[in-house]
Amino acid sequence: MLRKVLHQSLPFNRRIATAGSAAPPWLSSSFSSSSISIDRSGLYNPPDHSHHPTSDSELVKHLKGIIKFRGGPISLGEYMSEVLTNPKAGYYINRDVFGAEGDFITSPEVSQMFGEMVGVWVMCLWEQMGQPQRVNLVELGPGRGTLMADLLRGASKFKNFVESLHVHLVECSPALQKLQHQKLKCIDDENAAQDADKRTVSSLVGTPVSWHATLEQVPSGSPTIIIAHEFFDALPVHQFQKASRGWCEKMVDVAEDSSSFHFVLSPHPTPTTLYLLKRCKWAATEEIAKLDQIEVCPKAMELSQDIAERISSDGGGALIIDYGSDGVISDSLQAIRKHKFVNLLDDPGSADISAYVDFASIKHSAEEASGEVSVHGPITQSQFLGSLGINFRVESLLQNCTEEQAESLRTGYWRLVGDGEAPFWEGPDEGAPIGMGTRYKAMAIVNKKQGVPVPFQ
Ligand code: SAH
Repeated sequence: MLRKVLHQSLPFNRRIATAGSAAPPWLSSSFSSSSISIDRSGLYNPPDHSHHPTSDSELVKHLKGIIKFRGGPISLGEYMSEVLTNPKAGYYINRDVFGAEGDFITSPEVSQMFGEMVGVWVMCLWEQMGQPQRVNLVELGPGRGTLMADLLRGASKFKNFVESLHVHLVECSPALQKLQHQKLKCIDDENAAQDADKRTVSSLVGTPVSWHATLEQVPSGSPTIIIAHEFFDALPVHQFQKASRGWCEKMVDVAEDSSSFHFVLSPHPTPTTLYLLKRCKWAATEEIAKLDQIEVCPKAMELSQDIAERISSDGGGALIIDYGSDGVISDSLQAIRKHKFVNLLDDPGSADISAYVDFASIKHSAEEASGEVSVHGPITQSQFLGSLGINFRVESLLQNCTEEQAESLRTGYWRLVGDGEAPFWEGPDEGAPIGMGTRYKAMAIVNKKQGVPVPFQ
């Protein structure tokens, strides 16, 4: 039966500027090139202080404290990490940031079909793995838990599959962990304290669920399937700029009168500059030589290595879906508050900060970590969902729904697979929402024993 939660057509998705209805120029063309520098000229351009907090927030005081205590600026990576995940006051830590009421919206929140299609991918991989009786299904950064809930509901008829699952959610935010608990309709069994595995069970399909702060904490030893949707883009990036004195690091400093933050360039190449630029082995030297600025995400490289090692030792695979490019990124870091682009340094902790994902660096890091994994893609989200059969799914859901639900289904379908043009059933319409079908990409890392995963053949 069609779930009642067929989402209303929510007006904005992540990374989309919304002040005007037409697609900003950088959305349509820049992805085919191997490096990206974003032209923000077409975007809503906030005044320097678009948001006026009455006094410094706890996070702002904390950031100013670190800079003062160190006696100098901090790297952009450290700034991003504190702003998003500081355990007391980070952006993600204390609240629900998604949806029309929040700051941005993601694919699982657009339509139930997204989680269902990811579920089809997971089931196909499970088949290729020889239908193991016990599988760790890990999701990194599950947000509201919507993707996992839709995946489990969609797969509920496949008894052997769901009975094999133990769901592990890697989530740093206590507030979001609570929402995930609710979304998966979890029941805590206080009497099963000795058997930590069975303490919390999702009543959607009866699978055990546990939470962890990092992937490392997920118990190893069982075949593992990992999903990371819009997780890599939240990992802290460093930026470097070419100056006459060499590549220098972009840092965040505080004004003398302590009133605001601003960017400064390190006087010399920092140790991070030297280390990271050496690590960028996947990028051709000529490619880097053409750029004046480069953005590197060491946490994404580390995580890709951890994923590859886990999959080599335990078997299985990982699916990474995010927006990004298959090559070096120049400068993509952006902040979004209430669906509008805002200044990165304006009232930190009150806006989402994210960066494009460099899929080439994920591939390189995974392959470097283990010869037992193969990396596939990236392919576009539209190719990924199309090959898994989203067209058939939308058709079948449309068979049995109200006119309002049908409208929402069509809009959701379009937003997941569309590329920015108006949907064929509506004709040209400048006000149509921008699709996520080509800007978002899917990549798989699998144990070579599993062969090539669908739909990457
Ligand atoms: N996958 C979800 C949410 C994406 S937002 C969706 O598509 O809707 C990023 C998610 O990752 C949030 O749940 C956030 O709290 C979590 N997160 C961000 N950085 C993290 C980190 N370093 N460790 C664990 N979780 C993190």
